[in-house]
Amino acid sequence: MSRGDMAKPLLGHRSTEGDPSPTPPAGRTVGVLGSGDFARSLAIRLVCSGFKVVVGSRNPKRKASLFPAAAEVTFQAEAVKKADVIFVAVFREHYSTLCDLADVLAGKILVDVSNNTEINHHKESNAEYLASLFPACTVVKGFNVVSAWTLQSGARDGNKQVLICSNNQEAKRAVAEIAQVMGFTPVDMGCMSSACEIENIPLRLLPAWKIPIFLALGLFLCFFTYNLIRQVIHPYIREQKNKFYKIPIEVVNTTLPCVSYVMLSLVYLPGVLAACSQLYYGTKYRRFPDWLDQWLQHRKQIGLLSFFCAALHAVYSLCLPMRRSHRYLLIETAVKQAVEKKMTIWVEEEVWRMEIYISVGIIALGLLSLLAITSLPSIANSLNWREFSFIQSSLGFIALVISTLHTLTYGWSRAFDENQYKFYLPPTYTLTLLVPCTVIIAKVIFSLPCIQHRLLRIRRGWEKGRYVKFVLPSATGEFSSGETSSNV
Ligand code: NAP
Repeated sequence: MSRGDMAKPLLGHRSTEGDPSPTPPAGRTVGVLGSGDFARSLAIRLVCSGFKVVVGSRNPKRKASLFPAAAEVTFQAEAVKKADVIFVAVFREHYSTLCDLADVLAGKILVDVSNNTEINHHKESNAEYLASLFPACTVVKGFNVVSAWTLQSGARDGNKQVLICSNNQEAKRAVAEIAQVMGFTPVDMGCMSSACEIENIPLRLLPAWKIPIFLALGLFLCFFTYNLIRQVIHPYIREQKNKFYKIPIEVVNTTLPCVSYVMLSLVYLPGVLAACSQLYYGTKYRRFPDWLDQWLQHRKQIGLLSFFCAALHAVYSLCLPMRRSHRYLLIETAVKQAVEKKMTIWVEEEVWRMEIYISVGIIALGLLSLLAITSLPSIANSLNWREFSFIQSSLGFIALVISTLHTLTYGWSRAFDENQYKFYLPPTYTLTLLVPCTVIIAKVIFSLPCIQHRLLRIRRGWEKGRYVKFVLPSATGEFSSGETSSNV
């Protein structure tokens, strides 16, 4: 089975959404070994789905009251005799204690639902270990990605996919059918060698988020240090002014928008690089380098982190006037003004700059919120491709342009004021503009009709070089093949 096939639902044509769930085969009894949290939730869901359930426990009398009345709770040996498919809801460490049941279990399907505490904890997967203990049984790995809670609340409130693998197609189909009747979507992960991969899934901590989070943290650290030097260290060294109170709010608040803005541009930069590569090679069939591939795949997470930083920046900014330092400085300014007998400090240009700066900032945050919401699977699934790409691509680019306006109106003419170059360091906003402006300029160039037309052709399959296969007689009289390319 190909890798692509493996990712497809095993019973894909019988979708659980919309369609009523298929009815369980009449009189099908399903066995469950163990009476813990998972076994209990599983038994409840199986009973609700119309199966007869028989639970095998070491102590059935004590455990019976924990199960629904419709489920039969009996000794392990009794239970396994009554069912052909048996869920082993027992930890791996205790598999060996089930070996006494080997004879009664022979010929049956065992479903290994177990998880480990660490990734690749054992050399062989739990399912392979179970199969080695019970060679006369057929083992199917499955249901481990579903929690006891999801089982109990039904597939509505949790993850709907159940990943399944086994070396036996019939056994896999039988378990997939049970999963589907229970309201889950079985996904065929191929043969037993995939068990290890399936067992690692519940143990992974935000696998798709690692790179974006490190990127955000790295940017935050760089900009924070830069702002700290300019806003705190510089006045301390040059004027012996204590501005350390700025660290928790002001420095953080000037760092967050830098991270957010640069991260937003990093969502669109890989697309620009990919387009450059396609234009350069004149084909879309050439693989991107791995780092670009990875970058393209992490755009959603990078965008969401950009939104997160922007939202924090908005909250911090709203809280700025609440600070005591702000009040003191305000009163100080008022007193100075009174002493100097100044009637007004109104600067028309500053007023306008601030109004525009805040307004475009709010619009940028609104657009970012829209991008974040539509990247959620439940919302994304309700949009067609055109709607999704319009929001994520076009509105996203507009958000980048508006964020640039926000940054420019914030910085205004500071870049041309030599007092702003603390320790010869330019104002932070000028640094943040580098990547976003590159992206915006590149996008504008790509939208020129001649380039856009060429890019569109490439993306529809046109290639600069057409490869013509030819055959050369070799010196030994045998034939060898070569390739040549000609422009079409
Ligand atoms: P649990 O509450 O500790 O239950 C384990 C059960 O194993 C016990 O109730 C016990 O039932 C049975 N057992 C059989 N032989 C045993 C022995 N020698 N020593 C101790 N217990 C023995 O654990 P659980 O949370 O239900 O998890 C069971 C399996 O499901 C584990 O492999 C786990 O990785 C997997 N799983 C659990 C969840 C979850 O959300 N809980 C999710 C996915 C997968 P009797 O005393 O009646 O024999």
